[in-house]
Amino acid sequence: MIEEFFEKEKRSINTKEINVDFLVAGGGMAGVCAAISAARLGVKVALVQDRPVLGGNASSEIRLWTLGATSHMGNNNRWAREGGVLNEILVENTYRNKEGNPVIFEMVLLDKVLSEKNISLFLNTIITDIEKKDSKKISSIFAYNPQNETKYKFTAKYFCDSTGDGLLAYLAGATYRIGAEEREEFDEKFAPDKVKYGEKLGHTIFFYSKDAGKPVKYVAPKFAMSMEEVEQQINRIQNPNYFMPKQTGCKYWWIEYGGRLDTVRDTEEIKYKLLEVLYGIWNYVKNSGKYPEAENYTLEWAGTVPGKRESRRFVGYYMLSQKDIIEQRPHYDAVAFGGWSLDLHPADGVFSKIKNACNQWHSKGIYPIPYRCYITPDLDNVFLAGRIISATHVAFASSRVMATSAAGGEAVGTAAAYCLINKCTPSELMEESKMIEYQKLLIKNGVYLPQTDVEISSNLLQEAEISVSSELLLNEIPFDGEWRSLSQSTAQMLPLKKGKVPEITVKLRTSEPTTQRVELRISSKFFNHTPDVTLEAIDLDLNSGEHTRTLSFKAEIPQTCYAFICFMKNEKTDIFTSNTLISGILSVFNKVVPAVSNWGRQEPPYDIGVETFEFWCPERRPKGQNIAMKINTGLSCFSKENLKISDYRPIEKPNAWVADLNDKAPTVTLSWKEKKEINGLTIFTDTDYDHPMESVQWGHYDDKMPFCVDSVEVISEGEVIRSVGNNYETRIFVSFENKIMTNTLQLKLKNSLDKVPVSVMGIQVY
Ligand SMILES: Cc1cc2nc3c(=O)[nH]c(=O)nc-3n(C[C@H](O)[C@H](O)[C@H](O)COP(=O)(O)OP(=O)(O)OC[C@H]3O[C@@H](n4cnc5c(N)ncnc54)[C@H](O)[C@@H]3O)c2cc1C
Repeated sequence: MIEEFFEKEKRSINTKEINVDFLVAGGGMAGVCAAISAARLGVKVALVQDRPVLGGNASSEIRLWTLGATSHMGNNNRWAREGGVLNEILVENTYRNKEGNPVIFEMVLLDKVLSEKNISLFLNTIITDIEKKDSKKISSIFAYNPQNETKYKFTAKYFCDSTGDGLLAYLAGATYRIGAEEREEFDEKFAPDKVKYGEKLGHTIFFYSKDAGKPVKYVAPKFAMSMEEVEQQINRIQNPNYFMPKQTGCKYWWIEYGGRLDTVRDTEEIKYKLLEVLYGIWNYVKNSGKYPEAENYTLEWAGTVPGKRESRRFVGYYMLSQKDIIEQRPHYDAVAFGGWSLDLHPADGVFSKIKNACNQWHSKGIYPIPYRCYITPDLDNVFLAGRIISATHVAFASSRVMATSAAGGEAVGTAAAYCLINKCTPSELMEESKMIEYQKLLIKNGVYLPQTDVEISSNLLQEAEISVSSELLLNEIPFDGEWRSLSQSTAQMLPLKKGKVPEITVKLRTSEPTTQRVELRISSKFFNHTPDVTLEAIDLDLNSGEHTRTLSFKAEIPQTCYAFICFMKNEKTDIFTSNTLISGILSVFNKVVPAVSNWGRQEPPYDIGVETFEFWCPERRPKGQNIAMKINTGLSCFSKENLKISDYRPIEKPNAWVADLNDKAPTVTLSWKEKKEINGLTIFTDTDYDHPMESVQWGHYDDKMPFCVDSVEVISEGEVIRSVGNNYETRIFVSFENKIMTNTLQLKLKNSLDKVPVSVMGIQVY
């Protein structure tokens, strides 16, 4: 028993001092990825999160799906899921939780963080203040955890501000902005009309509804908006594009409020207003008589923490702006990428009378984000991550989403580790030679840096002679599918080399005589996947019935890139498809994806600085079959040389070694002239970077990606030295307890599906 006797003086709160190398403030997706990436490079990290769970807006408290450049697969950004730690989290979540349960996603995050011995996690610990060492440096931060009645003082060499509102950088005195820039400042033609449209995005609270299987009564709280107010003020509720009682969670992104208020200091006020709206809407649904289908529905969950979109943005060494995104400008210091649309919302949110609750304009591909957006000249030991990075209001409209934020988090965590290991400052890291070394670290961990030609050097594979059991020569996408109507324009993406286009033979079926147009298209930028340049069109005159037709294009391919063989919309024609899946080979459709304002073609109003182009997007599995075709002389783009490329994803070609479809024992053999000391190797599998892997609610067809290597046996000098089975991850780590000396390593690989040839995106040997 403990008995403490009466104290005349007040008792004092328990206090603890904690010293680490790197303190990450805020455990949203950006903070989690910053902490994990630094910890893995040997840095002692404290991750401090005010709420009981990780994930920020992606947590079960708010329930947003983590998204980024893939944009629900609704734009032209192919193979654009972010790499590195975020990819690892999303692949793990899809494996464990393809149904998109937010509670399970949260546990995936917790599991990942708790697995890192270098991370000390402080949940329920709210940062309240900071102390500065000098005008440009934070020395310590103060936090309090009401669960264990403990006050903390954290000291660290470097700090990452991933708090969403930028509390650390704000308290430390860094220059920041709130609201929209003038159009002229960065020549941003999409900058909003500040009065009419407003200059900030508001907060949102979601709800989940559930069919209880029997009628459920609902009595609204007294604070809920009245039915009359809902009817008069919320014009979107009657619009089936926005509102259906069966929809839940993220579909209610438009229940938004607060864009005209102070989105930091008025947050509680905003929250209460959102609760009035949410419960008012549900009351309207249940009790207005307009939604009889909602009779059996009950509220399963309603948020209490508002999801925040916008507040402070800090001014870094570089401010990302509209033109960086639309023109996909290259940067020597690219350390992450984005690809979500420029997505602005009217500041009046749910009360706005403006027709669209959001305005989304896409670019033709992904855009690099420079390191200079993650640091500020005002502070020497603070990194910025998440929605607070140095971007204009318009650019923020894209860079704010969580997968993009997470990619930035990894860039920041890696930068902090680089600075600690190499004893340099975050601003010195902007020097080109250091930048290259830092970028190599990111790439080594599976991060893709667009429009950079940095290659990792410390990879023994580069010195190895590679031999393989077979190489796919793609002279046929097998005719093992079914007929598919060309009721929408359909294209097969084929990686073609510079020069002549191979002859392509397809099977078509027509219900009555017709002329079928086939176009050969490419992208104006060879690394994009927007078919905006038509090289040639062929008109096929077809009688009714089945036809086998060979297409002989005269046009030449100007540079290695994906070509689109586009079979244009024709209700009278069907085309034969294939059920065979091959890494880096996709069919796409000129289709509409309303979730991301894709109406088949982007046609912006006059002079807003965004481009007009068509959307050609894949369908999600189990749909989206390739078009069956014979390819005369075949495509030889799946060679073993691709194993040396460190993009680890298709860009202008598949960048994968792919075995022949009939290869029953796919094997890669690496040999060196002299014996090498080898600690282990990392095999990069194909976990389908084209799949958006929304973290919650959406639900996915497969838990394990069909192209992914399932098992590997590593053989040295005739002996199996390691084997890994049941793999679903992007990276297979094979480490040897004791380093081995050998001049040959053989990898025997298998995947789990018959109709998918084994493929590997790259190998690192160290
Ligand atoms: C309704 C809505 C729809 C959106 N749609 C999408 C979408 O579809 N996909 C997408 O990816 N993004 C979407 N976004 C944008 C996205 O959610 C945010 O921009 C994103 O959360 C930014 O990530 P972050 O890590 O900067 O911030 P957060 O996710 O907010 O994380 C910050 C973390 O810091 C913690 N924190 C704050 N202050 C302190 C403190 N003092 N001490 C300790 N911890 C602290 C918070 O608890 C939080 O966990 C949407 C946003 C909203 C609100």
